[in-house]
Amino acid sequence: MHMGYHDHRRYPDFSLISNSGNFDHALTCIIITHFHLDHVGALPYFTEVCGYGGPIYMTHPTKVLAPLMLEDYHKVMVDRMGDEEQFTSENVHSCMEKVIAVDLKQTIQVDGDLEIRAYCAGHVLGAAMFYARVGDAAIVYTGDYNMTPDRYLGAAQIDRLQLDLLITESTYATTIRDSKFAREREFLKAVHTCIASGGKVLIPTFALGRAQELCILLEDYWERMNLKVPIYFSGGMTIQANMYSKMLISWTSQKVKEAYTTRNAFDFKHVCSFDRSMIHAPGPCVLFATPGMINGGFSLEVFKQWATSENNLVTLPGYCVAGTVGHKLMSGKPTKIDLDSETKIDVRCQIHQLAFSAHTDSKGIMDLVKFLSPKNVILVHGEKPKMTTLKGKIQAELGIPCYDPANNETVSIESTHYVKADASALFVQSTLCPNFSFKNGTAKDESELGGDSITTSKLQICDVRVSEGLLVMEKNKKTNVVHQDDFFERSET
Ligand SMILES: [Zn+2]
Repeated sequence: MHMGYHDHRRYPDFSLISNSGNFDHALTCIIITHFHLDHVGALPYFTEVCGYGGPIYMTHPTKVLAPLMLEDYHKVMVDRMGDEEQFTSENVHSCMEKVIAVDLKQTIQVDGDLEIRAYCAGHVLGAAMFYARVGDAAIVYTGDYNMTPDRYLGAAQIDRLQLDLLITESTYATTIRDSKFAREREFLKAVHTCIASGGKVLIPTFALGRAQELCILLEDYWERMNLKVPIYFSGGMTIQANMYSKMLISWTSQKVKEAYTTRNAFDFKHVCSFDRSMIHAPGPCVLFATPGMINGGFSLEVFKQWATSENNLVTLPGYCVAGTVGHKLMSGKPTKIDLDSETKIDVRCQIHQLAFSAHTDSKGIMDLVKFLSPKNVILVHGEKPKMTTLKGKIQAELGIPCYDPANNETVSIESTHYVKADASALFVQSTLCPNFSFKNGTAKDESELGGDSITTSKLQICDVRVSEGLLVMEKNKKTNVVHQDDFFERSET
């Protein structure tokens, strides 16, 4: 789903999957990588309105958290913005009932041909990369991922797989980030300076993920600096989300898990809930409000009131889609923002852009591509000029063909197909012949009983066995690997 649009362009053009609308025939399954709206936002529409009835896979936390995001989105867009209703609350419920939840590294046989497996993607709670294999052809689709761990999530983790294709996100295709510590310090300094002079801090965030990470950071700082200024969460949703974070503690990083025995990192001591009447209350405070890109909802409502004072501070997430207020604020500080024909906002507040993100930077993308060494790479989820730069880098530095197709563009890639071959008796026999090499060396014998170790001279034997054969492919005959003697015998007869 595209967060910058309010009309039909918000959803994918599903007619490209099937013109007749027979989606069950056209698709084997749907895989959702994580609960963010740009990844799950169109799902209830596709299943309940367009009528897709096949299997849907996602991890357990995604299945728990996605309906929260969808309900919140539904509320913001329909109740407050008056957008046309695309799907109902009941639709969200019945859609989620069809979802099959999976564990990380669990291999699922979707049908006779397709096999899928989820791997941890970092990013947000429950986010997964998916491996998919049909016959000998295999791909990985990363969704959004993070190669460095954050305060409560581990980093992306995947096996070294044989892949024809890696489809990777490229949000930060050309950004290399400096140390996380410096970025966190900058954020805390901006917040502290603002509240020290009596200002209000608005932190627009996605309710799940970033809010928890920033909150752990602030709580820690509040404790150290002995600050008493209130920190608020807007509405019930984030508190509800924290409840889920607590429940799903087993999915979070090792550090949080270890600390959990003494103190639950999600038990926010300083955080209280906020309601609308407090917008005009005097005195400093910090407020977390959704949505993150200030494209409607409560964060926009508060922004309209607080942006007009130079005492106040608004933080922006690392990334905002074009068309949102967040995006307008990112591209240089404007003095006025036209919301619609009647509403103009006088922007006088300070703006701080959060440089930390739940997405990998370009070094992380390069590291993943290098680690997996797929035969091809497709870049998605990024901005065209930056993707083109990264594409050039992947091709030049790693020698891997790379594509950055536009929406609705088709890319064809050759997939692997292994040929099964028989082997002649002579060839098999030739492989059995050892080819020893001998090397003198010394080795230490450690006594199991803990006595002195004895150094002895040892002869090391290596078997470097190489067999050469000829692959014979004849029309209407089985493919065969033969020994060269077989081959000459054949040619003579
Ligand atoms: Zn995401």
